[in-house]
Amino acid sequence: MESLLWLLVLAALVATVLLEVARRQRGALTERLRDALPQELQAARLFINEPRFPIRRHRPYPVAARPDRVYRLPDGSLALLEIKTRAAHAVHPSDIAQLSVQRYAMLGTRRLRNVLPTGYIATVSTVNASVRVHRVDLLSEQQTISLIARYDAVAGGREAPRWPEDLARCRGCPHRQRCSRPH
Ligand code: SF4
Repeated sequence: MESLLWLLVLAALVATVLLEVARRQRGALTERLRDALPQELQAARLFINEPRFPIRRHRPYPVAARPDRVYRLPDGSLALLEIKTRAAHAVHPSDIAQLSVQRYAMLGTRRLRNVLPTGYIATVSTVNASVRVHRVDLLSEQQTISLIARYDAVAGGREAPRWPEDLARCRGCPHRQRCSRPH
């Protein structure tokens, strides 16, 4: 009985330490990110930070988006920022698609409709923990609807998938193991 009690105390201590480490890491990232923000975001206020509940839009295609961060600029417009941890400070087309879908969801919500057609990808290096913020042009609402429609058709088996011409895009793809493309 006593050993079980000690085990519980030990587990509680380990959990506390891990939570504290995670909190400090988040705090350090927030500081590095703040320093790396471009000038136009320096005066902005953090409006949404890792929301507990997704932003939903139901028509014409249902999506549930959970942006990492949304900043409110002094003129009231909203800017999306997504944080990616990776080896190189590079922006992938999938990053832009992800932010565009988040914007599409926001455009369907009255209080978030003022979202800008440009967004930001913050890359955090796994090599040296440096942070770089990239400004990107997002897909228009119509382009995003077409992208979701295409995804819906491929996922539903109504259209055949097309392999990307650039093999480099397959690197790091989560579907690579079951993809029939020769690599
Ligand atoms: S591995 Fe397959 S699913 Fe992934 S990007 Fe390449 S072709 Fe597409």
